Amino acid sequence: MFNSLLQRLPLPPRIPLMGGPTPLQKSRLAWSDDALYWKRDDLTPYGLGGNKLRKLEFLMAEALAQKADLIITSGAPQSNHARLTAVVSAMLKLPSLIVIPGETPSEWGGNLLLDRLAGAEIMACGDEPLDQAVERITSEKKSQGFHPYTIPLGGSNTLGSLGYFLAFFELLKQAEEQGWAPGNLACAVGSAGTLAGLVAANALLPQPLRLLGINVVQNSDQLRSQVEKLATEVLDLLHAPCSLPPFEITTNFVGPGYGLPTPASSEVIIECFRTDGILFDPVYTSKGVAAVKHLLQGKNQEFPESIVFWHTGGGPAIFDPHYYKELLDYT
Ligand SMILES: *Cc1c(COP(=O)(O)O)cnc(C)c1O
Repeated sequence: MFNSLLQRLPLPPRIPLMGGPTPLQKSRLAWSDDALYWKRDDLTPYGLGGNKLRKLEFLMAEALAQKADLIITSGAPQSNHARLTAVVSAMLKLPSLIVIPGETPSEWGGNLLLDRLAGAEIMACGDEPLDQAVERITSEKKSQGFHPYTIPLGGSNTLGSLGYFLAFFELLKQAEEQGWAPGNLACAVGSAGTLAGLVAANALLPQPLRLLGINVVQNSDQLRSQVEKLATEVLDLLHAPCSLPPFEITTNFVGPGYGLPTPASSEVIIECFRTDGILFDPVYTSKGVAAVKHLLQGKNQEFPESIVFWHTGGGPAIFDPHYYKELLDYT
């Protein structure tokens, strides 16, 4: 249905990392009311999966086109984006450097372990603001003769967001093949690129879906404008300028802050693992599922149709002792 539309759009080059569509599965949770589906981007094929692989298809293609010889990115120590960037860099035989805030870690669990297994260099920038440190390190590497390609936090620029523009149509096609049509679509929101790509794609539908982003970053007043900016840039890049359909962002499920679990998010991890056999992560997706649970349980006419929750990955973070110790209290 959308193939001809997609073929007409001037998509920039990308390196194929997806292999095919990720599974789209119905939940067995009692409160799902037979209306909840998981889109399993935790199962993207490389480096233990996650949403950043779709962004890296475009970002790494640009890095290769620019003949980069070093990939630099940044993120929290348990960044899934940094882990997948390190893995894909290694697959492309490019060295990678990850800048993290604070001191050099004393424990190397979860994503940090995987970063090291992938061969990434990890630089802790202490008290220096992360963006400033990335800029400094990038120019230092340039003066040493490198041609670095620097990927922003979460891979969330226009090019990265294109990954979720395409993913949206993958989902629609897949649901159609299964004989149903999604009415609502929800995902966790961190650096905004995932939701922005979905919003941009939704703008091209005659009847847009209802989109809900669950903010997992505290105090991010700019998140909505960041989503709008990126979504507009995606449509401009594709020469398909049009007005953005409405979308919602809730901040009610972030709890004490980014990366800090809530009782609801920890309970959801255990519940979904036991019922559906699916692991949600403590930082992003468990807060997203907690929001969807709240909405479905308080169901009035709010979700008359099916809802898809986009599982964006992040599971490896629970192998950081900080997270698994907390989770053990809920078993
Ligand atoms: C990065 C990430 C998100 C958020 O995606 P953004 O594009 O940064 O908003 C959600 N879930 C997981 C597991 C992530 O790693």
